[in-house]
Amino acid sequence: MVREQEIRPGELQVEMPEKPSAGLFYIGRIETPWTSRMDCPRQGRHDGPLCRIEIFEPWTAGLQDVALYGRLELLYWLDQSRRDLVLQSPKSDGTTRGVFSIRSPVRPNPIATSIVKLERIEGNILYARGLDCLNGTPLLDIKPDRTLFSPLAAAQKGDFDVGDISLPRP
Ligand code: SAM
Repeated sequence: MVREQEIRPGELQVEMPEKPSAGLFYIGRIETPWTSRMDCPRQGRHDGPLCRIEIFEPWTAGLQDVALYGRLELLYWLDQSRRDLVLQSPKSDGTTRGVFSIRSPVRPNPIATSIVKLERIEGNILYARGLDCLNGTPLLDIKPDRTLFSPLAAAQKGDFDVGDISLPRP
């Protein structure tokens, strides 16, 4: 269920530190069809709508060679998220999960990632599918899809499954 500003039963809110540890540059802006979190998908799809990603100066020269890759990893800043809930109840049913065990947009540093399908680049504008953010979401970084570089390690004997992920035994 989409969160606006409420705190749900069982959730834990913490006091935010006074000062952030680092600064960020917004390198661009993502245009999508979604203006409300109610309509925005939880995860993007490669058959989803075509989105327009504008890269700002002075970063545009960094787009050289990006078109070599059909899949890119975008990192973006969920600028409308609250940041202070370390235990969350995604289903609003009283059960909670630690923030670092879920992909909730509510996190200390609301950084999101998507692997997008690059359709084309025109100057400083990228057109891609696979996003799940609101129109106007700030872009932090672009990288080639990491699976094109380093294969994931094969599952080890002794790993166990938690839902759709595999974790080493503690
Ligand atoms: N794919 C990313 C990930 O896994 O890191 C983001 C997943 S997050 C569950 C996607 C949700 O974030 C959307 O459904 C929407 O509710 C919320 N969202 C999207 N854009 C946002 C923004 N600019 N500020 C705050 N929340 C946003």
